[in-house]
Amino acid sequence: MPTVLIVGAGLTGCTLAYRLAHQGVGSVLLERGDVPGGLIRSEHMGGVLYEPHGSHIFHTEDREVWDLANAMTPFNDYRHRVDINVEGRIHNWPILLSDIDRQSRGDEIKAELEERRDVDAAARAEASNFEEWCLELMGPILYERYIKPYTEKQWGRPASTLSAQWAPRRVSVRWDNDPYLFPDPFQGWPAGPNGYTDIIDGLLDHELIALRTGVDVTLDDLEARAREVEADSIVLTCPLDVFAGERFGRLDWRGIIVRNVHIPHVEHAQGAMVVNYPGLEFPFIRIHETKHASRQQCEGTVLGFEFTNAPTRYYPIELPENRALNDRYQDFLRGEIGRDRVHFAGRLANYLYIDMDDCMRQALDASVEVLDGLPAPRL
Ligand SMILES: Cc1cc2nc3c(=O)[nH]c(=O)nc-3n(C[C@H](O)[C@H](O)[C@H](O)COP(=O)(O)OP(=O)(O)OC[C@H]3O[C@@H](n4cnc5c(N)ncnc54)[C@H](O)[C@@H]3O)c2cc1C
Repeated sequence: MPTVLIVGAGLTGCTLAYRLAHQGVGSVLLERGDVPGGLIRSEHMGGVLYEPHGSHIFHTEDREVWDLANAMTPFNDYRHRVDINVEGRIHNWPILLSDIDRQSRGDEIKAELEERRDVDAAARAEASNFEEWCLELMGPILYERYIKPYTEKQWGRPASTLSAQWAPRRVSVRWDNDPYLFPDPFQGWPAGPNGYTDIIDGLLDHELIALRTGVDVTLDDLEARAREVEADSIVLTCPLDVFAGERFGRLDWRGIIVRNVHIPHVEHAQGAMVVNYPGLEFPFIRIHETKHASRQQCEGTVLGFEFTNAPTRYYPIELPENRALNDRYQDFLRGEIGRDRVHFAGRLANYLYIDMDDCMRQALDASVEVLDGLPAPRL
């Protein structure tokens, strides 16, 4: 029977192993951490379900991916709403017209919005950077309050040096006062006892899947590991620069770290699952409280304070030189491991910010590529 070696047991690696197993192909997942699940893993603290790496909301238009996730765990009907602390008061994020009256200089803000109301999206898309795009959407007062300090805390550089490319997906003003963040038809949060960990455990629950944890794979030891499990094909879901010994240099990421604190004796400690803190007077950027989405009935809660500028690999810095460097690593590894023998999937190996549904989609697509390339006949 053919065997696939998968480096990394995050959502991408686990989804791939699941799909291969259901096509009769075995896989061995090698995971650096002590447990599988990568960024999406949920844990318990003081009996409260929380997310050590920050809150995750499953939202997608992809029916196949949604059905697969639901086959692993039931989902509740949570819809994501974010709060934001502006001028010391809580408002909705994205910006709602109905929140403007509760802010200082409300009439000036409304006049600035009105002036820009007829600028169409195509014209705004011509903006040369993120700051210009936002100013054209909302005017300077809202921009200075909601966007500029948050963005500069998040990225550690002036918003005028960031690309406008992501702005339409991240920033909006809601004239219809719709408070929910995502428009996708399928949304929710895992309703089982262990949150996203139930998805991971469900994906791995197959006799054709073997998981080995505490194994940090590098290019230097890859072939020995592949021989040991008689792998016909290799899928990398790990960061390629680290894997290849950084021989062409290091890929640039913006990292965050979430410090989680158990708060006893209260049901909730804030009004929404995520509250943004754009002000530079706050050393953190967001506070997470998964309990709003998990709807767990218990005493106590867990707050996760998110700090930026950590040495972790969370958001790729989308610059042409970084994209070229990741492409160079992929080409190099195809040459070293074999063009038809190695495949790349997930956020790390493709140097992308992708949501969970996209990474499951990448895993399903990668399974087709892998199955096509396997030498032995499938069962
Ligand atoms: C701050 C933040 C918030 C997010 N919020 C959402 C959200 O609300 N909704 C949503 O849909 N998505 C969200 N996402 C995206 C989601 O987290 C990712 O799509 C998903 O976790 C990616 O899974 P992955 O398997 O590709 O990567 P990872 O989860 O990073 O898994 C990679 C795995 O590979 C292992 N590994 C790495 N190197 C090696 C090695 N050399 N050898 C062995 N193992 C290795 C790691 O330990 C890890 O377990 C968010 C992401 C971030 C950063």
